[in-house]
Amino acid sequence: MQKTAASQPAPAPAHAPLNAVDGQVLARLRTLARRPPQSLVMEGGTAADREAASLAWAKILNCAEGGCGACPLCRQIDERAYRDLIVVDKQFFDDDPKTANIDQIRALLPVWGQPPHGAGARVTIFAEAQDLHPSAANLLLKTLEEPRPGNVFALLAPQRERLLQTLVSRSFVLTLPWPEAKAPEADAEEWIGALLRFWDSGQGWFERTGAKGAADKALALRILSGLSRELAHALSGQDSPTARRLARLGPAGLRRLDMVLATAQEALTQPTAPVALVLDWLATAVIPKPGGKTPPRRG
Ligand SMILES: [Zn+2]
Repeated sequence: MQKTAASQPAPAPAHAPLNAVDGQVLARLRTLARRPPQSLVMEGGTAADREAASLAWAKILNCAEGGCGACPLCRQIDERAYRDLIVVDKQFFDDDPKTANIDQIRALLPVWGQPPHGAGARVTIFAEAQDLHPSAANLLLKTLEEPRPGNVFALLAPQRERLLQTLVSRSFVLTLPWPEAKAPEADAEEWIGALLRFWDSGQGWFERTGAKGAADKALALRILSGLSRELAHALSGQDSPTARRLARLGPAGLRRLDMVLATAQEALTQPTAPVALVLDWLATAVIPKPGGKTPPRRG
């Protein structure tokens, strides 16, 4: 019998339980561990998938059993409490991500100049590498240009296109399976279809989001995840009608869509998120403003 997590109030853990890492990804990481690349970009999957994969990478590089997941060292890594693990995430930039960023990264330079404490590798994980301040990203780039014995870096991002191209070209890129296992739900698909029609015609969206009880938060999140999946298809050249329509946004438009989806998702995590407003913003932030200079369409 499986217990559902939702049925009982869970004690707040220091960190959310980790997603299971895909078997092929684990196998790939074990192969890479024979000669670990100094910098590994992990793209694809969900943010939680990328985080779990990066911690698995740290375990494989440090655990005497090759990342057993059960020994004290592996458990310390799961708790982000291992001495040769640095996780640069929102918590790391606890005071002010905008200004503190660069100094906090700079403070890591002497650490990266030292070999790790243990017998494995010191792993520094940039959990949302696409959000790094440009000067911090440049500092990281300079760091990667120097040999850092015993230090490896994992840069996590939804898509490699979100990172400095020069960072990507210095890294090995590992693509996690896109969150695709779940078949797209019919209701979310229907909304995505309406959104695409709105982008073409400028019509029919606000009536939809403005209707009473039109979309709740759960549906809005399914719409976002459906769009993310189609965005991944569009970026990787996989074919679907929606991906083809998204591809017409062009590289800049797809990057913009990616950022808009991330912002909308974050907005929806607020307990009082105004769902209709978020959906309206999503619909209008991606396309040029109505009335703006867009070439007339041939019917
Ligand atoms: Zn272990």
